[in-house]
Amino acid sequence: MNAYDPDNIFAKILRGEIPCNKIYEDEHALCFHDVAPQAPVHALVVPKGAYRSFSDFATKASSAEREGFFHAVYKCAQLLQLETGGYRLLANHGADAGQEVSHFHVHICGGGKLGKLVTSL
Ligand code: 5GP
Repeated sequence: MNAYDPDNIFAKILRGEIPCNKIYEDEHALCFHDVAPQAPVHALVVPKGAYRSFSDFATKASSAEREGFFHAVYKCAQLLQLETGGYRLLANHGADAGQEVSHFHVHICGGGKLGKLVTSL
């Protein structure tokens, strides 16, 4: 993969250059609603560090960053009141998965019965 692009849309959101509908923020992560929701509730959680994708985050983030990030994912799901009904976590890595924004992020989808994951070509 290419080098991290500091002008990707989530980097701009993290810097406050473009707005987002914020759900939760702490020192490690920012959570906000997806601008084009694919489920009744569709949120994105992004780490504050400059990581292009899951592999980048998994291999380069510190243990404190990883722990903080996944705590923020948990916290966001709680704030969205998805615990009882259930929810899906998803992270796209690279072209074959259709990753659009090159800043690592986890999707949180819920708020109703979700369809099966599409896994075929
Ligand atoms: P990916 O395909 O990279 O896993 O997902 C990128 C997600 O970012 C998409 O679900 C898309 O709707 C969302 N997105 C793209 N641009 C913006 C934006 O400017 N604001 C917000 N809130 N979401 C965005």
